[in-house]
Amino acid sequence: MMASIHAVVGISTSLAFCRKVDTDPSKTKQYIMPLLVGVALHGVLDVVPHSHFISAIPDIIVALFVPMLVLPFVKRKYLILVLVCYGGSILPDVIDLGVFRFLGIGAFRIFPWHFAVVYNALNSVWTNRHVNVLFDLAALLICVALVLWKRRDAQRMLCDKPSIM
Ligand SMILES: [Zn+2]
Repeated sequence: MMASIHAVVGISTSLAFCRKVDTDPSKTKQYIMPLLVGVALHGVLDVVPHSHFISAIPDIIVALFVPMLVLPFVKRKYLILVLVCYGGSILPDVIDLGVFRFLGIGAFRIFPWHFAVVYNALNSVWTNRHVNVLFDLAALLICVALVLWKRRDAQRMLCDKPSIM
């Protein structure tokens, strides 16, 4: 799945964890589950049909830009949560496709859904580009549905005026 969709999904999942942060935002332990869920959702999104209808560089730019749009409106108390959810959702690509490539070991992977054998097998099955794009749109629609379903939590997390900048 494209990095930009991973970013949107990751940030959206913070809505599912904001009530836990309410009790004690300083507890490091409560950020482990959001991080793991972000990584796990990344795996799910990489194995369902998907397309890359935006090329890599603009996709990465959008993925980096998404949190900049959201974070100024997030209350300070929830900033770490949103960053952790975002971080978890893009971490597998950052490590497997970014760090390892930078280190000159671009073929090395630690996340199984990025293994060449898995990637090639999935690509040979999902050849219908139109269907794949529908899955991309479905992932974004699920995020919209989550925001609507958790709109009270969204209101809780967001401030009236930008909190940073
Ligand atoms: Zn990936």
